Amino acid sequence: MVKINQIYQVEIISLADNGYGLARLHNDVIYVKQALPQEHVSVKITKRLQRGYVGEIVKWQVRDPHRVKSSCDIYHHCGSCHLLHCEYSHQLSLKQAMVKKWVKDSSLSLKVLPVIGMREPYQYRNKVIVSFYKDRNSKLQKGFYEEFSHRIIPYQSCLLHDEMMDDIVNSIALIAKKQRIEPYDERRHSGFLRHVLLRKGRVSKEIMVVPVCTSEQFPGRKKFVSELLKAHPEITTIVQNVNGRKTSVVLGSQERVLYGSGKIEDVLMGNRHQISSKSFYQINHEQCEVLYHKALDLLNLNGNETVLDAYCGIGTIGLSVANHVKQVIGVESNQQAVHDAIGNAALNHMTNARFICDDATHFMEQAAAQKRHFDAVIMDPPRSGSDKEFMRACAKIQPKQIVYISCDPRTQMRDLVFFKKLGYEGKEVIPVDLFPNTNHVETIVLLSRK
Ligand code: SAH
Repeated sequence: MVKINQIYQVEIISLADNGYGLARLHNDVIYVKQALPQEHVSVKITKRLQRGYVGEIVKWQVRDPHRVKSSCDIYHHCGSCHLLHCEYSHQLSLKQAMVKKWVKDSSLSLKVLPVIGMREPYQYRNKVIVSFYKDRNSKLQKGFYEEFSHRIIPYQSCLLHDEMMDDIVNSIALIAKKQRIEPYDERRHSGFLRHVLLRKGRVSKEIMVVPVCTSEQFPGRKKFVSELLKAHPEITTIVQNVNGRKTSVVLGSQERVLYGSGKIEDVLMGNRHQISSKSFYQINHEQCEVLYHKALDLLNLNGNETVLDAYCGIGTIGLSVANHVKQVIGVESNQQAVHDAIGNAALNHMTNARFICDDATHFMEQAAAQKRHFDAVIMDPPRSGSDKEFMRACAKIQPKQIVYISCDPRTQMRDLVFFKKLGYEGKEVIPVDLFPNTNHVETIVLLSRK
């Protein structure tokens, strides 16, 4: 029986789904923080989880030669970068091994190709969220949530952020202190400033700042805006978001534009895109283009197709293929994103792309009932994956090809097992590293009708 606070010697067998090193002790699973496969370590057990234990390394007997020193100050506490201690090329091998394991676990016969990595795996995030809180001396601080906790870890800069974003966050904290704006206190559910969300167009360099506040009444609003713009004239729009609920969800439903148009524009795959605060937009611009080029290559289009872009967000994939096909239909449940997608089609003079606000499954079932035809379906569902009703309806429509893009290969594999029963099979998985230094990976699979 494994005991909390006890030290044990273990060997790390593989990288677990959560980015921890996985070890076994008797019949128990131990998730060892910042451990790499093949390391032998003494580990102190710190926590019990439903599916095992968490441990921290106290000593190494054998170190992995790919281990590197992380240059992040808060790396040990912040729960974002699970692989900063690992050489980048080795991160890619570990992610490939992880995807191989998920494929094997689902008994699919898919070849897993090497993960396509990034040239410069830092400062790639075009979206940043930072939280505010009051420290012990009642001073406003900014930071990120500690892993598995509601404690916020103070931060100065992040290796994954664009430097300019961190400068803006610093300025916001300074202005808020000067104006005596109260940071949010989660325990008491009091205070005003909760978070700030920033978005930057990688190509356009346009910047959106979204302070998330507990109420619409923003004391010193005009001064806040003018001071922030004075410090950062590069900001193109400021949107106040109101979130007064007791929740860990960052954004509330209500918004008010304080400066600029309330949107930023960016160029992706040669197309202009308007992006709102709440719309989904891939956080890694460079790798997103790699991914979309792969989707285009896989589809091998002849120009006469009608393509469905399911879970289309602001239409980025659909508009990337629109110039290569007869027609694109996009379906997405987030109203603001659909609004952006329709605007983006017009902005790029694409008259052959239509976007519909609907639940993807509902849309698909109706399309099947109406005997509509799509030559190809591109689907890019959220982390939870798709559902059986969507896939059943999709199979009824009989597209020749389905390109399934996923940010969680585990749910993708689950769905591919069901697609196989419906007569759709793939040959290979192409993983693309959209999230360097974290344990996440994006995968793309082409399915064809048997
Ligand atoms: N393809 C887009 C967005 C992918 S993220 C891109 O690459 O940018 C997944 C999208 O699915 C999100 O925009 C989310 O709002 C949407 N979504 C989630 N559940 C949905 C559902 N049931 N029906 C339609 N869209 C859904």
